Amino acid sequence: MRAWVQERLREPLVLKELPDPTPGPGEVVLEVEAVGLNFADHLMRLGGYLTRIHPPFVPGMEAVGRVGGERFAALVGHGALAEQVAVPREALLPVPEGLSPEEAAAYPVSFLTTYLALRRAGARPGERVLVQAAGGALGTAAVQVARALGLRVLAAASRPENLPLAQTLGAEEVATYEALPEKAKALGGVDVVLEVRGKDLEGSLSLLRPGGRLVYIGAAEGEVTPLNPLRLMRRNLTVMGFWLAPLLREEALVQEALKFLLPRLGQELKPVVGAVFPFLEAEAAFQALLDRGHVGKIVVRL
Ligand code: NDP
Repeated sequence: MRAWVQERLREPLVLKELPDPTPGPGEVVLEVEAVGLNFADHLMRLGGYLTRIHPPFVPGMEAVGRVGGERFAALVGHGALAEQVAVPREALLPVPEGLSPEEAAAYPVSFLTTYLALRRAGARPGERVLVQAAGGALGTAAVQVARALGLRVLAAASRPENLPLAQTLGAEEVATYEALPEKAKALGGVDVVLEVRGKDLEGSLSLLRPGGRLVYIGAAEGEVTPLNPLRLMRRNLTVMGFWLAPLLREEALVQEALKFLLPRLGQELKPVVGAVFPFLEAEAAFQALLDRGHVGKIVVRL
């Protein structure tokens, strides 16, 4: 089979002919049709992800494909950017009706993360949530899931041209990062921040109402600033970390999320596919992921 291989960290991918995977106990082989790219795949290629994978490895953690003719989505640690990947049977997820393979490849990470992060924050209907990077894959999912949970969304992005989409998806209010402090103040603050930028944590905390919660999901801006806990005491604020990967082993939690998401996906929840790249252009797809002008999920199609 053909696969894109990260032979050395921080270097371009190399297209290689590898032996077809042999499934281990409890595993099946997925004939890959589409791969959803994640910011985490990029971090893994740099060696800067929460778990370090030693090269050579095949990137790609989210895919759609066929097992014995039936289509499934799948979440794997890595290895999806190939014609085939061996997947533990329990990592297979249903493909909701009404989703194309590209849309289906865009749902698992973004929609599970959003639902579970909002749950972790204890977000209640009527509360206001700030969604950063609102035009991105996670952001477009977050706006929709928050709405479906009865939350009011303030969507923010670096570029004004990424904001109308958030509005179409159900954000009540939108602002560029520049205009955000003023906008949030005018609204009386927010109850929950889904933090994916990571750099200006103090700035994000200042947008919270007393009792507000910040869920630390990502640090896309690459810098992590220290936090003075006194800032939390004064207004009874909470900062909590969130990482999807270990939560996937919590069967009851995943089932709860899927029970909420699956009937709605293809209906009121639609994964946004920003661009589809052919398999041979995987490196260009990664470039698009890093271009802050993209919207939705970048998908590689086999
Ligand atoms: P996106 O499609 O959202 O793309 C990344 C977005 O991040 C961009 O659109 C951009 O929006 C923003 N951004 C901020 N700084 C940068 C930068 N220096 N370079 C590129 N983009 C930047 O990607 P994902 O949906 O895959 O991920 C979004 C965030 O969520 C990431 O931080 C990721 O690590 C995190 N994440 C965490 C998970 C977890 O389990 N903890 C699971 C899934 C995602 P803008 O320009 O508007 O700021």
